[in-house]
Amino acid sequence: MATKSSRSMMDVDERERRLLAPYAMFSADSAGRVYPEADHPYRGPFQRDRDRILHSSAYRRLSGKMQVFTGEMGDYHRTRLTHTQEVATIARTVGRALMLNEDLIEALALMHDLGHPPYGHAGEDALNECLADDGGFSHNQFGLTIVQEIEVRYNEYPGLNLTREVLAGQTSRVDKQARGRRPLLEVQLVDAADSTTYDAHDTDDAIKLGLVTLDQMSHLGLIRDGLQYVKKRYAGLSAELLRKAIVHRLLNHQVTNLIDYTARQLKERAFKDTDEVANSDFLIGPDPELAEQKKELESFLYENVYRHPQLIAVRESAQFRLKQMFRAYCENPELMPKKYHPRCEKVGVRQMSVEYIAGMTDHFCEETYHALFPKA
Ligand code: MG
Repeated sequence: MATKSSRSMMDVDERERRLLAPYAMFSADSAGRVYPEADHPYRGPFQRDRDRILHSSAYRRLSGKMQVFTGEMGDYHRTRLTHTQEVATIARTVGRALMLNEDLIEALALMHDLGHPPYGHAGEDALNECLADDGGFSHNQFGLTIVQEIEVRYNEYPGLNLTREVLAGQTSRVDKQARGRRPLLEVQLVDAADSTTYDAHDTDDAIKLGLVTLDQMSHLGLIRDGLQYVKKRYAGLSAELLRKAIVHRLLNHQVTNLIDYTARQLKERAFKDTDEVANSDFLIGPDPELAEQKKELESFLYENVYRHPQLIAVRESAQFRLKQMFRAYCENPELMPKKYHPRCEKVGVRQMSVEYIAGMTDHFCEETYHALFPKA
């Protein structure tokens, strides 16, 4: 204890006791790590998890992975990394307002898309087909494999040795339908922040890239509300400022609704600890009216943006290439760098080939493809 107080004004447990609500996850109640470690003198366990994720190579590679749009479409739009940062920021804003554990929230948010392969969901679908007979591939599961087995940081054990709470949070993302007990509120919140974030930024990117227009979206409840709100306050905005103002409103409206609606419900439920949350049917989300409007916006984005001919073309060529690469590595595992050979022995050539491809950035994948198939 002496070491803690000598380095910081207030230790982690004391700060959490003062700032967090009873239904939050307290660092002092953490179930710890698979490989036990001594406490850090001034960082709590979830702060350390966040830092371990931030310093991992999988995290850095998110900057080279597309969210929805590819580098060929310019450099304005979100990458998997900027999306992750937006999710973390929004989740922390809501989490602070609800008196939840921000360190845990940030760790979960920075980790949530760590397992995404190159070329977004198109890449994921292709790799899932490659492993159809071997249990399939999911980016959420791969995120867990990365932090538990693949990242190398310590001599004593594989992976990042994260706390059980962070691992359980990511595990609950793998099969959301199969959830028994409710996940921690911090886990639920990161999920809600993910959709809050992409609904706003995919709208922004799609309009900016000219795939859809604001006019085409003006019948959607959320956009109609945004247009009314913005036009009442600001006259004569340029198209660019109008887009930015709408996206700002879209985010602010969703975040405020999420905080207000959740705070009201948490007050009514009066959970005394995380166990009461786990045994309840509570789920963090926007109020039912906004939930409907989000659904409407999401199906518009699905039909008109994610299925846009320009993106379908990228999607098909990416999938074709990933499958060709998969076959090449399966037939000739020596094509993979030497350092992967021991893991290849352990998990088998099919799994290793998919993991190797899944770890690539879009650009590295492109280069590797051309090295494997120079005439393509
Ligand atoms: Mg995400």
